[in-house]
Amino acid sequence: MSHPHPELSAPPELAEGALRVIPLGGLGEVGRNMTVFEYAGRLLVVDCGVLFPEDHHPGVDLILPDFAPIRDRLADIEALVLTHGHEDHIGATPYLLRERPDIPLVGSELTLALLDSKLREHRLKETVHHRVREGDRISVGPFELEFVAVNHSIPDALAVAIRTGAGLVLHTGDFKMDQLPLDGRITDLRAFARLGEEGVDLFLTDSTNAETPGFTPAERSITPVIDQVFRDSARRVVVACFASHVHRVQQVLDAAVAHDRKVAYVGRSMVRNMMIAKELGFLTVPAGVLVDAKELATLPPERVVLISTGSQGEPMSALSRIAQRTHSFVHIEEGDTVLLASSLIPGNENAVYRVINGLARWGARVVHKGNALVHVSGHASAGELLYCYNVVRPRNVLPVHGEIRHLLANADLARLTGVPHVVVAEDGVVVDLVDGVASVVGKVECGYVFVDGSSVGDITESDLKDRRILGEEGFLSVIVVVDSVTGKVSGGPEIHARGNALEGSSFEEVKQPIIEALDRAIAEGTTDAYQLQQTVRRVVGRWVSSTHRRRPMIIPVVIEA
Ligand SMILES: [Zn+2]
Ligand SMILES: [Zn+2]
Repeated sequence: MSHPHPELSAPPELAEGALRVIPLGGLGEVGRNMTVFEYAGRLLVVDCGVLFPEDHHPGVDLILPDFAPIRDRLADIEALVLTHGHEDHIGATPYLLRERPDIPLVGSELTLALLDSKLREHRLKETVHHRVREGDRISVGPFELEFVAVNHSIPDALAVAIRTGAGLVLHTGDFKMDQLPLDGRITDLRAFARLGEEGVDLFLTDSTNAETPGFTPAERSITPVIDQVFRDSARRVVVACFASHVHRVQQVLDAAVAHDRKVAYVGRSMVRNMMIAKELGFLTVPAGVLVDAKELATLPPERVVLISTGSQGEPMSALSRIAQRTHSFVHIEEGDTVLLASSLIPGNENAVYRVINGLARWGARVVHKGNALVHVSGHASAGELLYCYNVVRPRNVLPVHGEIRHLLANADLARLTGVPHVVVAEDGVVVDLVDGVASVVGKVECGYVFVDGSSVGDITESDLKDRRILGEEGFLSVIVVVDSVTGKVSGGPEIHARGNALEGSSFEEVKQPIIEALDRAIAEGTTDAYQLQQTVRRVVGRWVSSTHRRRPMIIPVVIEA
């Protein structure tokens, strides 16, 4: 979370008639998207998502955007607009609503339905919903919103145009420009062009694939690959994909029908999301194709398809448990085929290959992105972005949704098409649109907010550092009793170690140096327990490093008795 403007200080007061943009997440990482717009003293929030932790965040369940910069202004929020139902856009909403439950939520039918099941899990019932669809215009306070259809790896995604006295903003959300999508709902370039004609003052565009040249392949291009996998499979087929990728599931359902197989969903989120998608008409389930997962045991293996969660190797997911043979009713056997029909999110590589190896060990053939065209991205590549800039002809561009390299690549594309002002900002960098020109005006402090179990925001970077040391080196505890009358060591040192195989080694040789160091410190007048503990830490730290070449966490305890 470096950012390119270390010199920035807090932004000045917003000028009369100007629009302020405060990105609280998603600029500098792929995840936890959240952008705050301020106009005439009121706030509009677009998206409120989560970021999934990586290996260097041990024990962390989720990472949230930092609400601190708007915490004392929650009452000013007119609405939270959710562009689509992916976790990196809606996942942190329950945490924002905990702080103010009646923030009006604006989104499409599927987006709000997916959000709803999440809000119920968090026991948030009294929420305010405004369901919108493409073409709709609504006003929330001083913000006039217009929604535009965009095509993405989840149905019913929307871009949002925001009109204020400061100008017209267009935020693409996540999008691509598949011209022959499975549901026929394309990114509405005619609306983009119409808005461009009106004059887009600030264009916020999805940067995820800005480094990828050309065009993202059509979703349809993987249909023949899925078909071939089914044709080649003599036994069961297990397909793992994102639990929100309704169109991918649709393709698998259609292939199952064509090859006379029955389908069951495995994994809680898959079952839940596909039920929602079917109820709302986004998923067409041919009659008789779907069966309960437990019924599959009664069918011959060549008639069976399982659609499962866990395509990212998530340790608790259905696919991981299948790979470890700990799933309650799905057991991989020799000759089964597993199809991982998803991208590999950076950071998940090891986990995914662990799953692939596990499945292969049981005799499954594993088809994945590395050996077949079984996935296409949900995001626009460079060619599509260039197209958009030329269609919209914005005056200012702010690349969003990506790591810094993606944001910079997207900025270059905007400049290539002649966009006059391109602003690259990371999380917390404040951008004002004044008299039609966008520029960086300051920054607000916003860090990672870690969720661990029921705690939100209590775990700090320094706790994670401790966890990493404990995880890599274990700990050594040293307990010493000092007589408060004589000032001499009267008990210990007692030394214990965990997680580093040091237990029972040459602890004896460091005990005398500890006693001598304490005696010396006390003789020099140190009485504070913390200072004495630091003395113990130094002696033990030096010893363990020089004799064992280790750096475990050292926990000194000095008791005065
Ligand atoms: Zn998305
Ligand atoms: Zn996203």
